[in-house]
Amino acid sequence: MFDFLVVGCGLSGVTCARLLAEKGKRVLVADRRSHIGGNVFDSYNEDGILIHNYGPHIFHTNIKEVWDFLSRFTEWYYYQHRVLAFVNGKMVPIPINLDTVNMLYGTDYDSRNISAFYDQVRDSDREVTNAEDMVISKVGQELYELFFKGYTIKQWGLQPKDLDKEVTARIPVRYSRDDRYFTDRYQGVPAQGYTKMIEKMLDHSNISILLNTDFKDIQNEIKYSKIIFTGPIDYYFDYKYGRLPYRSIRFEFVTYNMEYYQPVATVNYPNDYDFTRITEFKYFTGQKSDKTTIVKEYSTSDGEPYYPIPRRENRELYQLYRQEAEKLGNVRFIGRLGLYKYANMDIVVKDAMDLVKGGDVL
Ligand code: FAD
Ligand code: UDP
Repeated sequence: MFDFLVVGCGLSGVTCARLLAEKGKRVLVADRRSHIGGNVFDSYNEDGILIHNYGPHIFHTNIKEVWDFLSRFTEWYYYQHRVLAFVNGKMVPIPINLDTVNMLYGTDYDSRNISAFYDQVRDSDREVTNAEDMVISKVGQELYELFFKGYTIKQWGLQPKDLDKEVTARIPVRYSRDDRYFTDRYQGVPAQGYTKMIEKMLDHSNISILLNTDFKDIQNEIKYSKIIFTGPIDYYFDYKYGRLPYRSIRFEFVTYNMEYYQPVATVNYPNDYDFTRITEFKYFTGQKSDKTTIVKEYSTSDGEPYYPIPRRENRELYQLYRQEAEKLGNVRFIGRLGLYKYANMDIVVKDAMDLVKGGDVL
């Protein structure tokens, strides 16, 4: 008899499992995949390079509580992410910063007068209601078209005006030379990889693990008091209101016999090719090898659910499932799929910590 069945062995499920186990609860974590870690799973490929099997994952947060919690299970490689965008045949920094503007336009702005440039191009009167407005209100039509329009259409299969403003608000506009993708206080990649970190989180005598197992196959076979469900909420309810749309990705990994393939970890391709970005893993880990592995990401509408698609009609459909969920006494939904929320790793960990600490689940 288990106190909890946690469905999903990703960061949210594992965080819940660990905290519950530390409170003396007996927990079974089940996942339909053959490995632990969910989308943060990483592994060594046949060329000995540590890759992120479900795309590039850089941990970053301003939430000290989350950083301290994960730091119990890993040391960090203090990597700070840098991204270039391939635009008009040049690789320039993204988020757009002072150097991006100067490189594109051959200008010589500095941090004291760059605001004059942005003020000249931006549509500051625009009402910001969607992902297109968000960018145009900050940098104007031309930079929007160069950096955001094509990328967003590739990534989401939708026009930016049909997506929530929060999607493009993830990418700031900089008035400085700071070319880091994130400016959070705590940033890094687990020194031994995410899978090792997850292994340590699961290493507790109150935690049992069942892989290759779908929830529906064990739902009535195993004895437990409560469920924490981190899979897709619409699947739990047998899609009774219809399917929640997710965006998926096809990952294409390539290994080259060269030390490095590109100048930074990630290069975004807003307007060229069919992939959105190319990421080279060795930058994340500091690994030394005379080979290097990259991944190209092709967004698709079918496949594993990776990204909830942030737009009004999807939120409304999710609310129907949410209302069903609230009627259930012994099931809690959490994580990117359970809450249908485009959340970074730190937020799914924080939500899981709050769920267990909040106590009403116990
Ligand atoms: P998941 O990791 O998806 O775990 C859910 C698990 O539930 C899965 O393992 C799944 O197999 C299992 N499951 C589902 N249904 C069932 C079922 N019926 N029965 C049994 N098991 C089931 N965040 C960052 O902070 N930084 C980044 O750089 C970053 N990069 C990303 C890049 C990509 C390409 C993607 C897709 C996401 C990225 N993220 C990043 C977000 C990050 O992956 C998520 O926040 C986090 O992994 C979500 O964890 P989770 O536990 O909620 O979900
Ligand atoms: N985006 C863009 N161009 C870029 C980078 C991002 O248009 O060069 C937009 C795009 O809509 C993307 C969103 O901003 O989906 C968020 O980007 P982020 O890099 O945070 O996406 P993730 O890493 O979550 O896929």
